[in-house]
Amino acid sequence: MWGWVAAWHGLVLTLDCRYVGAEEIYEFYRKQAVEYGLYDHAKFNHNVIGAEWNEGSGKWTVTVQDMATGKVFEDSAEVVLNCAGVLK
Ligand SMILES: Cc1cc2nc3c(=O)[nH]c(=O)nc-3n(C[C@H](O)[C@H](O)[C@H](O)COP(=O)(O)OP(=O)(O)OC[C@H]3O[C@@H](n4cnc5c(N)ncnc54)[C@H](O)[C@@H]3O)c2cc1C
Repeated sequence: MWGWVAAWHGLVLTLDCRYVGAEEIYEFYRKQAVEYGLYDHAKFNHNVIGAEWNEGSGKWTVTVQDMATGKVFEDSAEVVLNCAGVLK
């Protein structure tokens, strides 16, 4: 199944074992992100402090901290997906 998905996207993965290793998984998603231009929209090393629904604008106000500078700022979004992980 993994090989089929990879081939369908025109990506080359080496499948020489039953389970795909971390490096191959990382490379697969990295190429997907490059192909679909996701890196242009991604912010790394940023901590989401909170998200509040704004009834007036019909958007979420998201409070974020840049972990490199410590700067806290607000962003807005129509949709917020919480992908903070099951361990959170
Ligand atoms: C010890 C261990 C071994 C595992 N081994 C395997 C395995 O061999 N194979 C397998 O398929 N699965 C394995 N898993 C499960 C797999 O790691 C998880 O199912 C998968 O990582 C979940 O992905 P996720 O993106 O939902 O969450 P995560 O990978 O947890 O990613 C969540 C991200 O959100 C970030 N985040 C959290 N809070 C905030 C916030 N407030 N602001 C900004 N960012 C935030 C975190 O820093 C993290 O980078 C293992 C899990 C553990 C704990």
